[in-house]
Amino acid sequence: MSTDEMTAVSTRVPFLNLAAQQAEVSDEVLPRWRELFETAQFVGGSEVSSFEAEYARYIGVEHCVGVANGTDALELAYRAVGVGPGDEVIIPVNTFVATAEAATRIGAVPVFVDCDEHLLLDVDAVEAAITARTRAIVPVHLYGQVADVAALRVVARRHDLAIVEDAAQAQGASSQAGRAGALGRAAATSFYPSKNLGAAGDAGAVLTDDPELAAYVRSFAAHGGASRYVHDVPGMNSRLDAVQAVLLRAKLLRLDAWTAARTEAAGRYGRLLSGMSGVQAPTSLPGNDDVWHLYVVQVDDRDRVSAEMDAAGVDNVIHYPHPLHLTPAYAPLGYRRGQFPVAEAAAKRILSLPLYPHITAPQQERVAEALHEAVR
Ligand SMILES: *Cc1c(COP(=O)(O)O)cnc(C)c1O
Repeated sequence: MSTDEMTAVSTRVPFLNLAAQQAEVSDEVLPRWRELFETAQFVGGSEVSSFEAEYARYIGVEHCVGVANGTDALELAYRAVGVGPGDEVIIPVNTFVATAEAATRIGAVPVFVDCDEHLLLDVDAVEAAITARTRAIVPVHLYGQVADVAALRVVARRHDLAIVEDAAQAQGASSQAGRAGALGRAAATSFYPSKNLGAAGDAGAVLTDDPELAAYVRSFAAHGGASRYVHDVPGMNSRLDAVQAVLLRAKLLRLDAWTAARTEAAGRYGRLLSGMSGVQAPTSLPGNDDVWHLYVVQVDDRDRVSAEMDAAGVDNVIHYPHPLHLTPAYAPLGYRRGQFPVAEAAAKRILSLPLYPHITAPQQERVAEALHEAVR
């Protein structure tokens, strides 16, 4: 690489800066990792159980079961509330594919519904999607804000359905109804490295107040039995590793400070973008304490804007370019283009800007400038 190219690379505004997070915790984490390496206590142990207890306390639930990733956590939560083959699970169509994939892995059927103007599950659309096979409704707390669970509870109660939260993007977020992850019968979260609380690889957890449900998840995730070589049901292997628990424990201590930094950065974007014509900035639902997992603006001619920002040295991502009913994976379900107009229109306009705890004001000014140039 030439010096010029290296300068161009180093002055890009990256979409994420995980190295800065690692640097904050390395003095605590590296000695404990070394200890694990030497004692070879890789599976289970006190680091895992301590993290589970600490995360349960942080979210405000009785039980946290650490698992291998967020997709497994969703599958386990669906199973725990009684979702089985042929059952239906109501899912917003604009989400990460895992929300639906976890249902199809059980042999259940994802039933898609549109989103509202905040790009969260449209609660009014849920009722019409309920059938005799419906078992669960999944509010996805997308981009860091909490879906309207209070309204959803009324629908769920009327039809005796379980609410399973997908809280992967909302660690620490709350609404008037309470904290994300503590609002349904069960919740799934992911500690994928780029999440607000991220591991050094894959990790996830199931959260619940229900001791039976927690015991079911623990057993199903451990080959279907409560102790070794006892197999009550054909289960699966899904573990939170000790090396991940060490890092997650250290990062959890900083999560509120990092959320505050994200919130401050979101406020700065709000000021930088206010009055910028052609850019629709995100707004929070009233009463929501957003944790700003992603900062998603909407623009016309999005693909061109994205490419021009990229050329100007500003990384940007689209979450998500295809509503799930328009992906080849879910084409067999038979949905048509035009069926979910809000999500379909948004998918052509949404653009996620770099936002993370360690982003600097000059970096955000560069992002705003590049966006301004691109939409002019
Ligand atoms: C990340 C994510 C998941 C899946 O988590 P993995 O740990 O990657 O399996 C599920 N749902 C949403 C909304 C996510 O953002």
